[in-house]
Amino acid sequence: MSSAPVRPDPTAEPSTDDEATAFVDLGLRDELLAALAALGYEEPTPIQREAIPPLLAGRDLLGQAATGTGKTAAFALPLLQRMPADRLTADPVALVLVPTRELAVQVSEAFHRYGKELGTRVLPIYGGQPIGRQLRALDAGVDIVVATPGRALDHIARGTLRLGDVGTVVLDEADEMLDMGFAEDIEAILEHAPEQRQTVLFSATMPARIDGMARAYLTDPIRILIAREKPVAGEAPRVRQSAYLVARAHKPAALGRVLDVESPTAAIVFCRSREEVDRLTETMNGRGYRAEALHGGMSQEQRDRVMGRLRAGTADLLVATDVAARGLDVEQLSHVVNYDVPSAPESYVHRIGRVGRAGREGVAITLAEPRAHRMLKTIERVTGQRITIDKIPTVADLRNRRLELTQAALRESLLEDDLEPFRVIVESLSDEFDLMEVALAAVRLAHEATLPGALEEEEEIPQIAVRPPRTGRPGHEGRGERRPGRPRSAGTTQVFVGLGRRAGVRPQDLVGAITGETGMNGRDIGSIEIADRFSLVEVPAGLADEVISGLRGSTIKGRRATVRRDRDTDGGDRRRQPR
Ligand code: AMP
Repeated sequence: MSSAPVRPDPTAEPSTDDEATAFVDLGLRDELLAALAALGYEEPTPIQREAIPPLLAGRDLLGQAATGTGKTAAFALPLLQRMPADRLTADPVALVLVPTRELAVQVSEAFHRYGKELGTRVLPIYGGQPIGRQLRALDAGVDIVVATPGRALDHIARGTLRLGDVGTVVLDEADEMLDMGFAEDIEAILEHAPEQRQTVLFSATMPARIDGMARAYLTDPIRILIAREKPVAGEAPRVRQSAYLVARAHKPAALGRVLDVESPTAAIVFCRSREEVDRLTETMNGRGYRAEALHGGMSQEQRDRVMGRLRAGTADLLVATDVAARGLDVEQLSHVVNYDVPSAPESYVHRIGRVGRAGREGVAITLAEPRAHRMLKTIERVTGQRITIDKIPTVADLRNRRLELTQAALRESLLEDDLEPFRVIVESLSDEFDLMEVALAAVRLAHEATLPGALEEEEEIPQIAVRPPRTGRPGHEGRGERRPGRPRSAGTTQVFVGLGRRAGVRPQDLVGAITGETGMNGRDIGSIEIADRFSLVEVPAGLADEVISGLRGSTIKGRRATVRRDRDTDGGDRRRQPR
């Protein structure tokens, strides 16, 4: 791996961003810079720019950042850099607390990616995973533990997780942890950590409870907050803004479909890294688009060539990083696509400002993974503009759209073309077949000739439901205290889980299992009732199937449970077990 510093290409067009700091300016060591270069990260995100230097200096930090802002690297890189060399003990020196198992896995994977060359040992521990494996790994020695609070506390109580050497604690997605009822667990965990330590708290939202936490656990922290409702300077561009919720694995297919339906004149698709630009360009070319890559690793000459092809109309899709696209001005751009939710509202505004110029209407499309939904909300709040969540076109939508195109082509041909030379074919066939049948066969041939790419091979892309807004439920505190028989809110379904108090199940175990297995957010889950031998969880009706199949595939407190729709939901007369 080369250890080339990650600087924007010096031949790049002048940056419009005054603060274009490179990773190398943040004081990161060569091994980390090399890892970032290999991942194709071209520049730090705003949160990384602001958080990395003070974290390297050992300061406490309170940061407002949701998934998608690059917050994981913002705390992971300084932690890796500050890792003491030649450690003698096996106990961890850093603890990262996260709300869900999904995030525990993601965060430890990120540590692995960045710290590969440093040989840092990172262990995710979370409920639902067999404890034996975790015990062995802890025993063998780890440097960084990434844990959900419940399981971390379990290990602390067993004496298998010792926090005496911990120099840094990170509370990641702290608002979610509070929502899930982890406040007491976090407090108990922090009591076991040395008082002299660095504490870092990231939260997507900053309600008063987070402020309270910051006051209790942080010492003179650096504060990084997103400006509130800062209207976009100048006149808002005429841009239709929409977003699609889609899992990562389905993004290339989703992009193809959306582009098929939108039929842009020319579009630019923004990706986060060079690696992704190259991969997506290849995928889109494989799908029959004329896509060109544009990133900071290319020479000015290569870029000019790409831009020439776009202007000449021999390419219709530009796949680019922010750095490479800076200062680009393409007249014919009709669509901007964010392949991921941008890392900051400012970056979103910058990107979509490339269309909707000179009074023409532009379209901005964002493909968001379910977890990045909150970042979309932040962008809406900051820009004061609405982003509608649309449904990804289904195979049937695509089929209809293609038929429409064929019909339009035939109409054009009927109006303009000289059809005489073909009369002889129709006449001779009409002796044998009905005219309608002849027409149908001709349409089919025309349809297949203009639109290759068999739709039969297209998989359905799962539609991810838009999460219903919060209904003003009073935090988590009321959870688990719902008495049997109280009416459920409308539009919800109760899910029966065949494990209860006797199995040691707590509300946060259920919330953790559900959010870990589905794209759901802790706030989407309604009341939770825990009886001796079973539990009932209220979820939005449209998500019940997703929850049931997620829970069936996982374990709760190390056990598999019977999971199904509660019979009461269907109006049945189920007799509850006494509590
Ligand atoms: P996070 O907000 O930490 O969940 O990160 C969101 C995504 O952005 C992850 O897939 C990271 O790999 C990616 N990422 C983080 N920082 C950068 C960066 N500076 N440049 C490109 N991609 C990044």
